[in-house]
Amino acid sequence: MGRIILTGDRPTGKLHLGHYVGSLRNRVIIQNTWEYDRMFVFIADVQALTDNADNPEKVRQNIIEVALDYLSCGLDPSKVTIFIQSMIPELHEMTQFFSNLVTVQRLQRNPTVKSEMAQRGFHDGAEDDNRRGLPVGFFTYPISQAADICAFKSTTVPVGADQEPMLEQCREIVRSFNTTYAPVLVEPEIYLPANMVCRRLPGTDGKAKMSKSLGNCIYLSDDPKEMEAKVKSMFTDPGHLRVEDPGKVEGNCVFTYLDAFVEPGDFEKFWPDYASLDEVKDHYRRGGLGDMKCKKFLISVLHDRLQPIRERRHFWEQDIPGVYEILRKGSEAAREVAAATLHEMKDAMKINYFDDAALIAEQAAAYKA
Ligand code: ATP
Ligand code: MG
Repeated sequence: MGRIILTGDRPTGKLHLGHYVGSLRNRVIIQNTWEYDRMFVFIADVQALTDNADNPEKVRQNIIEVALDYLSCGLDPSKVTIFIQSMIPELHEMTQFFSNLVTVQRLQRNPTVKSEMAQRGFHDGAEDDNRRGLPVGFFTYPISQAADICAFKSTTVPVGADQEPMLEQCREIVRSFNTTYAPVLVEPEIYLPANMVCRRLPGTDGKAKMSKSLGNCIYLSDDPKEMEAKVKSMFTDPGHLRVEDPGKVEGNCVFTYLDAFVEPGDFEKFWPDYASLDEVKDHYRRGGLGDMKCKKFLISVLHDRLQPIRERRHFWEQDIPGVYEILRKGSEAAREVAAATLHEMKDAMKINYFDDAALIAEQAAAYKA
């Protein structure tokens, strides 16, 4: 069997540079250069509701933002099936069946869920303080995510490093299903960016992860002025007070972002004083290179990467009904695939009673007076 690619994003906000280098950029490369059977990209509104149940309007408004970000980054609906998670009810049936194969203890060990709970102020102890209790749907979202992956028999999931525990959990569910019932499902592989800094891009505040929920993002749709202002106030090395001081490159966001975005040719175009990023880093470490010069270079590089994305976004913004039509068609196509997989799963689980002529005949004979 060939490769089937699948990934998605939660419609909780516009997409940012972390999404871009962690997953989106790889998706476009895969779409344009790999050989694959099919590629699916979906907007995970059901998952977004697990921690936004009281704010459906936010989810509703952000579907179009995520779709516009996809199209503006170059995802091509003639090559990729783009769909909305809630339009595929089969996923919820699968989630229910999978939840019987996973223990509460196993879910509690998932490190991504743990850190996301802390980030959102959810707690799983007694409800005796002012923190919010943990919604069941949020706690079990790794199971629903396994259903998203399995429904399409995905082989390859291009995501950021925070998704590793989800993929591991999904693989366990597949193994458990296949050994308990029949070998129907496919174990997926995670596909991480080769460049380590892209696997978990930090926020502009230097915090571990750029994340919509943390408000430390540069969005793909930021206008040039917003992007510039964010870079200028970016976290660098707090010990690098005067230009002459030696500076630290590790943990310095400007250098992390340069590592993630610089391409061959950028120095020649935007900063001919240097031939490579290593030269800049050496100078910064020695002292004598100011933050602002480095930030200006980063602004030029980001501007160059983001301008074509902004232009394509502007194009698609003029045809919002057309974008919804792409999502509708994609959702219909995706649903057919998910329904076929669910059918196979139900056969394997022996809950296909009306199709099981042998069962009916056997019981009819046994009960006949
Ligand atoms: P939320 O705060 O609502 O969870 P998020 O910013 O974490 O939003 P998701 O929709 O959860 O974004 O993530 C979608 C995809 O983008 C996943 O594949 C995830 O690994 C990747 N991703 C998100 N943030 C980053 C980041 N900072 N660096 C690398 N990859 C990222
Ligand atoms: Mg997230």
